[in-house]
Amino acid sequence: MIKTGIVGGGAAGLWAACFLKKEGASFTLLEKGPECGRKLLLTGHGRCNITNRKPVSDLMQGYHEASKFMKPALSSFTPEDVMDFVHSELGISLKEEENNRIFPVSDKASDIRDALVKYAGEENIRTGFEVVDIEYDRTAADGRFTVVEAGGAKLHFDVLIMATGGNTFPQTGSDGKSYDILEDTLGHKVTPLYPALTGIPVAPHDKEFTSSLSGVSVYAGAGLYLNNRKRNRTEGNVLFTHDGLSGPAITELARDIPENVKDQDGWIELDFTPGRDDTEVDKELLEQMRVKPDTRLVTIGADYVPQSVSHAIGRRAGVTDIKAAQITRGQRKEFVKNLKHLHLTIDRQPKFETAYVTRGGVALDEINRKTCASKLMPGVYIIGEALDVDGISGGYNLQAAISEAYIAVRDIMC
Ligand SMILES: Cc1cc2nc3c(=O)[nH]c(=O)nc-3n(C[C@H](O)[C@H](O)[C@H](O)COP(=O)(O)OP(=O)(O)OC[C@H]3O[C@@H](n4cnc5c(N)ncnc54)[C@H](O)[C@@H]3O)c2cc1C
Repeated sequence: MIKTGIVGGGAAGLWAACFLKKEGASFTLLEKGPECGRKLLLTGHGRCNITNRKPVSDLMQGYHEASKFMKPALSSFTPEDVMDFVHSELGISLKEEENNRIFPVSDKASDIRDALVKYAGEENIRTGFEVVDIEYDRTAADGRFTVVEAGGAKLHFDVLIMATGGNTFPQTGSDGKSYDILEDTLGHKVTPLYPALTGIPVAPHDKEFTSSLSGVSVYAGAGLYLNNRKRNRTEGNVLFTHDGLSGPAITELARDIPENVKDQDGWIELDFTPGRDDTEVDKELLEQMRVKPDTRLVTIGADYVPQSVSHAIGRRAGVTDIKAAQITRGQRKEFVKNLKHLHLTIDRQPKFETAYVTRGGVALDEINRKTCASKLMPGVYIIGEALDVDGISGGYNLQAAISEAYIAVRDIMC
């Protein structure tokens, strides 16, 4: 019987273990931490947004440059398949929330993690086993891969599934160290890494604006600019924080912020009235000012944004206490400019430590997208965040890890 070694006991590794178990295969999962699934426990704010019940054609669009790569995996093990497995094999009931996001009814990520570990079988899992090297003997009839542990122990396998994760939340075990094994030992190219799905810190001179609104969330358009060119644009809720900006519209932009963002004059532009052009908003504001000459402009501005945001914009435009009748044309234009094109300078690249996902990883042109098998090293499969795949927020990243685990195991069992 083929002996499979799984390196990494996160979401991808645990799901691969469960699929192998279902097939009655022989396998050992090696996890360097004291327990499996430490990042899984944090998912969905401890509730585990396990998948997203969108049709595969829509779901694919959530994987940026990797959408085409992900198609075979997502079509082979769909969100419905994940839900069926969780329900019928793991015995956990699920519920659907806003935007097709799926969670366990219990709202406990630990229920999912514990059930995966139980299903895979504790006897098949070795924790505290950090793989530091992999030796390969092409001529060996059995066990051509020798996995070397930090303490020197060695285990032999016929097939390896690498599920070593990305470079974020290092306290969960995915500290990026294993990219060295993927690159130096297995010979794969690793594309540049960026922290993705995280808040964006603004420069000290713009912190006054964001921290004065800390905790306020507002619907807005958000554009990321580098070297004066728009790099990306999103629309959705923006959350102001002491450090800068967060919320869904912002976190989706983080993956495009390079390490040298300061040299590239990076900034975020917020548009608090997306879908309406400057002239239209200006005309409407002018009319409001004519009707309410004794009302302060910042009070009129509260028709467009929460009052606190209107006041902060008013402070920027220098019109906080000025009534409509006294506002000059230039002051009104400045207010509209800040309402439509609020410019906040990016302080630095967000930190990997707080990012939910890593953009970048093992180059996809070196991976068979139908099986997740390495094209360079026969018998090796690479799945999960170790690959150059990152999805948007909403259950996409766990779904990717699960679907990839499925196609890898299906190929191993062929
Ligand atoms: C706070 C937070 C919330 C999130 N919420 C969601 C969510 O709700 N929905 C969603 O879809 N995604 C979510 N994500 C993303 C999701 O958790 C990851 O995409 C997913 O866990 C990736 O799975 P993985 O198995 O590839 O990597 P990981 O889960 O990081 O697992 C990798 C494992 O490999 C082990 N390892 C690494 N190197 C070695 C080695 N050399 N030897 C042995 N073991 C090794 C590590 O210790 C780790 O346990 C969230 C992420 C974070 C940080």
